[in-house]
Amino acid sequence: MVETESRRDIRKLKAEELKEFFVQHGEKAFRAQQVYEWLWNKSAKSFDQMTNLSVPLRDMLKSHFVINHIKVDHMQRSSDGTIKNAVTLHDGMVVESVLIPAEKRITACVSSQVGCSLACKFCATARLKRQRNLSPDEIYDQVVAIKEQSELFYNRPLTNIVFMGMGEPLLNYANVMSAIEKITSQKGLNMASKRITVSTVGLAKMIVKMADDGVKFNLAVSLHAALDKTRSSIMPINDTNSLSELAESLKYWYHKTKRKVTYEYVVWKDINDSEEHARALLKFAQIIPSKVNLIEYNPIDDGEFQQASEESIRMYMDLLERHGITTRVRKSRGKDIDAACGQLANKS
Ligand code: SAH
Repeated sequence: MVETESRRDIRKLKAEELKEFFVQHGEKAFRAQQVYEWLWNKSAKSFDQMTNLSVPLRDMLKSHFVINHIKVDHMQRSSDGTIKNAVTLHDGMVVESVLIPAEKRITACVSSQVGCSLACKFCATARLKRQRNLSPDEIYDQVVAIKEQSELFYNRPLTNIVFMGMGEPLLNYANVMSAIEKITSQKGLNMASKRITVSTVGLAKMIVKMADDGVKFNLAVSLHAALDKTRSSIMPINDTNSLSELAESLKYWYHKTKRKVTYEYVVWKDINDSEEHARALLKFAQIIPSKVNLIEYNPIDDGEFQQASEESIRMYMDLLERHGITTRVRKSRGKDIDAACGQLANKS
């Protein structure tokens, strides 16, 4: 008979619960503090790393708990320096995370779900369907792994984190928030909230919730079209979460947080490359203070979507900039290893 694992994952315990466990087992409460630090601040992957604990105490912990750390099984490096990690979770599922080096920053792009339920027609992750949400520690570990790679390969600290990997972070809100809390905590990675960006397909109700929760990170919205008909045809979520609802939630967001929003937008040939679409985007971008990132399209095989011409991109740029909207054209990174936006599909 196969023995089922009865030991709990120690990182599912809150600091308070860990303390209780220690007291109940006749240990001093401050030991819990030490263990908590090993688990989060120092990202220990085994109890034997906890060298300031006695061997019998480590053995006692081993008999009750496991540490379900993620494993970076496969790492690919792009010719432009981008690193893509295939990350295996404790149940064997796989997600991807990406390190993106730039002149002034090193960004970790992390996943929040295994697969995705949103079915955006242009995105490779959508084809995997949603399998499950990631736990806070699985999100945290991706950041730690990239932080280590950043120091090892680039001799520079990790500076930014974007939730632009697999999944929709706002459909796994509680766990994403809990991970961010640890990433920004002094007992965790002590990174600044303003260095973190959560990207969403634009779930209006959740944007309102985030505003009410007083979050301190940046918000990016994957807009891609500012006309309902077009947006619905490429992003099914728009059927139940229309642009006017999205606009209302963004007004509320700005009213509460005073933080600008960034719109992610791909211009595709014959889909949204007309002046009418550009004007609609301008109008939408003027609702609250915002920036626009025009992102390069990364083809995901069948050729249904094609990058618009340089001329159309310039038309967008000129119109937006003329009206004072900061607009950047974002070149793809890591395309040769399928690490670019929308290409994450466990192909490695
Ligand atoms: N679900 C969240 C987080 C994913 S972020 C969101 O939608 O924002 C991934 C970003 O890449 C999104 O802006 C998405 O719209 C964009 N994207 C998806 N497929 C793409 C592709 N093939 N080429 C370029 N960008 C793509």
